[in-house]
Amino acid sequence: MIKEAELYWVRQAQKEINFQDSNIQKLDPFFDEDCEVYRVGGRLGRAPLSYDIRHPYLLPKKSHISFLLVCDRHLHALHGGHLRTANEVRKKFWVVGDMNIARRVVRCCITCRRHRGKPTHQRMADLQEFRVSPCSPPFKTTLVDYLGPVMVKLNRNTTTKGYGALFTCAVTRAVHLTVVQDLSTQAFLQALERFVSIRGAPAMMVSDNATCFRGADNTINELNIKPNQTQVREHCQRYKVEWKFGPPGGPHHQGAVERMVQEVKKATRQLVKVDRLTFVECETVFCKISGLINSRPLTAMSSSPLDHPPLTPNHFLIGRGDLNCPDIPCEDYKGDLRKRRELCNTMVEGFWRRWMEYTHKLAPRQKWQRSSDNVEENDIVLVIGDDRKRGSWKMAEVVRTQRGQDGLVRVVEVKYADGTRATRPVTKLVSLMK
Ligand SMILES: [Zn+2]
Repeated sequence: MIKEAELYWVRQAQKEINFQDSNIQKLDPFFDEDCEVYRVGGRLGRAPLSYDIRHPYLLPKKSHISFLLVCDRHLHALHGGHLRTANEVRKKFWVVGDMNIARRVVRCCITCRRHRGKPTHQRMADLQEFRVSPCSPPFKTTLVDYLGPVMVKLNRNTTTKGYGALFTCAVTRAVHLTVVQDLSTQAFLQALERFVSIRGAPAMMVSDNATCFRGADNTINELNIKPNQTQVREHCQRYKVEWKFGPPGGPHHQGAVERMVQEVKKATRQLVKVDRLTFVECETVFCKISGLINSRPLTAMSSSPLDHPPLTPNHFLIGRGDLNCPDIPCEDYKGDLRKRRELCNTMVEGFWRRWMEYTHKLAPRQKWQRSSDNVEENDIVLVIGDDRKRGSWKMAEVVRTQRGQDGLVRVVEVKYADGTRATRPVTKLVSLMK
C-alpha cells in the first residue's frame, strides 16, 4: 500500500520532467513497465548492487515532492551533512540537482542549526567618538578591565590570588596598571583612587560587565544619593565618573582595552615570572610594565634621520618618548616662564598633530567587513553560553534590538523560556530562523 502511494507521487512528479533536457538524456532514462515509472538507465547495469540503486526512480529538480523526499532522507541520515543526505537519497531516487537541494535542506534545518549553526555577526562598527577625539587630556576617557589572577605570596608557605586592574586611555592608548588583592568592590575602588591620584579623574569610564565594575558603579551612585554620608560623598565626588557598560559576553565591544590586556600579558612573559611575588613586588613589576607599554611606538618607525622619532603614549603623559631624563637647554628661557609655557604648549600641539598619523592606522576594518541581515525582534535564537557544550546553550526569543547609528543591530535583549531577560551581543547568538 505504502509502495503504491510512493509510486503514485513519483508518477505525479515525473509529469514535470522534460526528457529533451541534456541533463536528463545523460541519465538514459527508460520506462519501467511493472511500476509504470521512469528509472535511470545509466551505466551501472552490471554492478553487483540492488536494482533500486542501479536504476533509481528519476525525479525532477523543481518538484516539491523531490524537496520533501530530500527532507525525509535528511532525517534518515540523522541530520548528516548534505553529502550524507544526498547519498541516502540516491539509494532509491535520482533527484536532478540533489546536492543543491540537500544543501538547502541542511541550511534550513532547525536541528542542524542548533547543533552546527555558526554565530551571527555584523559589520564592525565605526570607532566611537571618544576613541578618535584629539586634544583631550590623557585618561579623560578611560577603559578599564581586569587581568589575572596571578598567584601572590603572603608568606613563606601561603599564596593567594591577586589581579591587575588595567586602565587604558581611549585616545592616547596609554596604560596604568595596578594590583588589586581581590575582586571586591572595595578593592577596585582603592585601585581607582590610586589611579585618580596619579593620572587625574577621568570624565568617562568604559568597562565590560564584570560584577565588580557593576559593583563599583552602584556603590558610587549609592554613596552619592545618601545625604547622611557627606564625607564619603565628597570623597567620591572627587572621582565621580560617568560609567558606560558593554553588553555581557561581548569583550570585543571593549576591543581597545582587551588589546592592551594582551600587550600586558606579553610584556609580563618577557619581563618576569609574576607568580609568587609579594604584593609590593607585584606592584613594582606592574609599574615597570606600564612604563614599557607606554614607551611603545604608536606611529611608524622611520629609518630616515630627518623624520621624528615615533610617537609614544609617554609623549602625552610625560612629554617625552622614553623614561630617561632629557638634557633640557634651559638658558634660552631663563627667567621667562611664559616663554617656557608657550614652548610646552607648542610641543603638545605637535604631539597631537602627529597623533593623526596614528589614527590612520585605525581606519581599516580588520574583520567583519560586510554587513549581514539584522537580527529582528521575535526571532528565535540559540544563546551561546559560557561553556563550550552546545547542549547546555539555551534558546531564547529576541524581544528588543538596539540599532547603531548605521542602522545595524549589534546588541539585543533576549527572553528565555523561564521569562528572564538578558542583553547579549549578536556574536553570541545562533539564528534558528534564517
Ligand atoms: Zn538537520
